[in-house]
Amino acid sequence: MVKNATTLTFYGGVDEIGGNKILLQDGDTRVFFDFGMSYAMKKQFYSPPFLSPKSEKSLQELGILPKLEGVYKFDDKPPAVDAVFISHGHLDHSAYLSFIKREIPVYCGETTRTILQALSEVRRADLEFSVADLNFKTFRTGRKIKVGGLEVEPFHVDHSVPGAYGFVIHTSNGAVVYTGDFRDHGAKPEMTHDFVEGAVKSEPVAIVTEATNMTGAAISSEAEVESKLHSIVSEVEGIVLAEFAFSDVDRLNSFYHIAKKNNRCLAVSLKQAHLLEALRKDKGLTVPDLDDESVMVFRKSKKRFDKWERELIERYAGKNKVFDVFEVSKQQCNVVLAISFYDFEEMVSLQPAAGSCYVLSASEPFNEEMEIDYERMVNWVSHYGMPQYHVHVSGHMMPLQLKKALRQVNAKRIFPVHTESAGLFSKFMRDLKSEVTLVEKGKEYKL
Ligand SMILES: [Zn+2]
Ligand SMILES: [Zn+2]
Repeated sequence: MVKNATTLTFYGGVDEIGGNKILLQDGDTRVFFDFGMSYAMKKQFYSPPFLSPKSEKSLQELGILPKLEGVYKFDDKPPAVDAVFISHGHLDHSAYLSFIKREIPVYCGETTRTILQALSEVRRADLEFSVADLNFKTFRTGRKIKVGGLEVEPFHVDHSVPGAYGFVIHTSNGAVVYTGDFRDHGAKPEMTHDFVEGAVKSEPVAIVTEATNMTGAAISSEAEVESKLHSIVSEVEGIVLAEFAFSDVDRLNSFYHIAKKNNRCLAVSLKQAHLLEALRKDKGLTVPDLDDESVMVFRKSKKRFDKWERELIERYAGKNKVFDVFEVSKQQCNVVLAISFYDFEEMVSLQPAAGSCYVLSASEPFNEEMEIDYERMVNWVSHYGMPQYHVHVSGHMMPLQLKKALRQVNAKRIFPVHTESAGLFSKFMRDLKSEVTLVEKGKEYKL
């Protein structure tokens, strides 16, 4: 009997952090793992909002969206892909679902779907991020999904967004492991250990691994972040302004615990409140309750509110939970205000009091949801005389831990993705038994 050929082709995540789009073919079965937006490639050509892509044609012309047939909703050809699996809700792994043909099933964790939907509700519809009418099919750890000749086994992993998964994919030529984004120093390292254990058992022929943190690595943990936040917040005399990623629930919990411990309220944006409401329904997650006395909702100053914003304000205004910038300004020493760089205009009305501090709790300058405009941020906080603290722990595995995991998994081949340091990675891993392949974009690798 002739065995089916199994191949991997990488259309994104090659020599860049994010933008993962990995095609696995097994005989006639074709499945994509992740379909993210490439921040790095976009930045080479665009500078939103004034210079933004107008259509998918521009994105394809510039090589930001790969040229593929039977994948996109704007092409008339029949679907040429059986499914797309999304590892987690960060946009560098999921945003370009926007372009996927609506009849192609999209498999992701339940939490990922909740996050993507909440995100689409709070953003204006835009070319590069729309999940409307997608054919979502959700899974949880422990379920196995059959797609054509493949069997896909999702495993929860620890990452800087809840509902992140790695996959063990059983093909006709052995198992292929895809890590997605993962770490083992977050709030739930045991999830990553479960994944690694599952990967070891599958005796894989290949592992596609993220290798984000090959430079600038650090030893820290979410618990350490929380204790550092306490050292800061307990000494601040004015307001604490906090910048962290919208969907980083672990970080949000850390700020919430520390606000509470220091008799302050954590003030969250309407956008964050909307996501929290959606995530509260997720039984597997612990997130602060908006009704909690240590949480308040911050309504930024603007003339017109969207429908979802008006509804949210109505739901919590009666409970005396919604505050505008003037009300927050009067009680600065009682508040930790979660603020995004894009809302810095609020500072003009807020007038941070003497002794206020700004805590940047995201990676600098890259963050998987936005690009922090570091220089302008520094100008703002300097103008208001606020020192800036950087308290953060990465969402990605550190080099030594990654090597240990890869040694355990002992796959025949390793394909590093989601990194700007593949060469360094390959040298660092050179004494492993696995053969490291430096990936070229668009090239097909036979397993
Ligand atoms: Zn990523
Ligand atoms: Zn991620």
